[in-house]
Order: sequence, then structure tokens, then C-alpha cells
Amino acid sequence: MHVNLKELTEHDMTDDCPICQAQQFVTVALLPAAAAWEQNSDLPRFSIALHGAAELLGAMLENGVDRDALESVLGGLLDEIEQRIAEDRALGGPPQGTA
Ligand SMILES: [Zn+2]
Repeated sequence: MHVNLKELTEHDMTDDCPICQAQQFVTVALLPAAAAWEQNSDLPRFSIALHGAAELLGAMLENGVDRDALESVLGGLLDEIEQRIAEDRALGGPPQGTA
């Protein structure tokens, strides 16, 4: 299976952008589910989040995605997320301490 990392990261902010929809799905559904799972199973905070993310990326490695390319793309995504967090905080942002 060929995985096009460029196709999975380059996107726009239109309503029907599939990458934006994927991000939305993760923040609305997966993040709260992981947090609830950790809490209900007495697992350390972020243990499901971290290992879930790693195992999901591991599935990409298993499908032939180059690790260096994956790490590079992941670094870029984390940069974008950090930037978004900084912007949200500058704007007053989402309420703190609710997670
Ligand atoms: Zn998008």
C-alpha cells in the first residue's frame, strides 16, 4: 500500500477538507475517549494518548511508510499544534484544567 504523506498533511481550511475533518474527529471523539479510558482503567494520564498515537503510527510503518519521513511529517504537525495552542491562549482560548 502506498501512503502519500504529502496528501495527508497538506490541506486548506474549507468546510469539506478531509484533513480538517480528520483533525476534528480526533479532538471531538478520540481525545475524550482516550482520557476517559485512562481514568476508568486507572492508567496514567496520557498513557493511552501516547501509546495510542505511537501504535497508530506503527501501523503506518508496518505498511511501508519510511520512518524518517514519518518523523519529519510528525514534527511539522506538532509544530502546527503548538502554534495553534499559542494562538488559542493568546485569544483567551479553551478553558484550562477541564481535561
Ligand atoms: Zn483542512
